[in-house]
Amino acid sequence: MDETIQLLKDLTESNGISGYESPISECIQTYLQPLGSIHKDKLGSLICKKEGNAQKPVVMLAAHMDEIGFMVKHITKEGYIKFLPLGGWFDQVLLGQRVTISTHKGEVRGVIGVKPPHMLSAEEKNKVIEKKDMYIDIGSTSLEEVEAAGVRIGDPITPEAKFEILNNNKSLLGKAFDDRVGVAVMIETLKKFQNSPHPNTLFGVASVMEEVGVRGATTSVEVVQPDVAIILEADIAGDVPGVKPEESTVKLGGGPGVLFYDARMIPNLKLRDLVIELAKEKEIPLQISMITGGATDGAAIHLYKTGVPTIVITVPARHIHSHSSIIHLDDYKNALNLVIALIQILDEEKVLSLIN
Ligand SMILES: [Zn+2]
Repeated sequence: MDETIQLLKDLTESNGISGYESPISECIQTYLQPLGSIHKDKLGSLICKKEGNAQKPVVMLAAHMDEIGFMVKHITKEGYIKFLPLGGWFDQVLLGQRVTISTHKGEVRGVIGVKPPHMLSAEEKNKVIEKKDMYIDIGSTSLEEVEAAGVRIGDPITPEAKFEILNNNKSLLGKAFDDRVGVAVMIETLKKFQNSPHPNTLFGVASVMEEVGVRGATTSVEVVQPDVAIILEADIAGDVPGVKPEESTVKLGGGPGVLFYDARMIPNLKLRDLVIELAKEKEIPLQISMITGGATDGAAIHLYKTGVPTIVITVPARHIHSHSSIIHLDDYKNALNLVIALIQILDEEKVLSLIN
């Protein structure tokens, strides 16, 4: 298997919902180990330092390692599990999906269910069923059986989804491309610079708890103290039925994206334009994206101390915040090449020019 595909498979098949990132953190550490010196902040974000030809500027490359999931909230006496969402879930993508509960006795598989359609009234059938009315069924028939399986209140629940290659090896299907695809770009960027010079000090950061309010970015930026930041994120592809051109023109296979706007950050305009110019020069297709209903780790990072010039570079993904999202390999490779080209020109003079 191609190294990039193997990396994306390992990263997306590892579990690590917000606040419960240990399994994905271990997976990322094995990849980062040979690439620089690794530190952790006290919330668990991983910070990998790679020295270059100059101490300054300090470049922060940030991607979040956590994925959205659930926590066990309550177990009914009949043996069903009620759950609390961690991150932004859309009720309609949940029913019938498989999940994994990580317990002190090991992994327990279950499925998200609701009252059978045959028993719903006509009025009930026309209503959207909300998360609070759903439950997880692990095949038990009593509370005692659920407890015997090892399930406890507070255990993390992760979407269960296999990684698959689609579309004649051009597209990939899996869970948690938001933001394991960003983590993969961060890792492969650091790998690229093992044998090639860069005029700065690079910090690759895999942050925790982005999906519950950019918490890991808020603390890890204190460790890195960046002069400039590049946020690597999964974007929202708008090329699905029902999306109007004025809502999104981001297309799978159309190239990486650059965010012009999200709910909590407007990027540094000089850095934004530098990315656009660079993409043109390197003949890398680039898409303009605006996300009104969401934010990134940039929200915390660009507000650090007196401010940090920050940009978000994305890989478009369809169906994010569900069990199965799809990305295009060309977009991934083009995003990686764009980030590498950008780091190659971010020397001290260039970074100072962004704030003058
Ligand atoms: Zn994300």
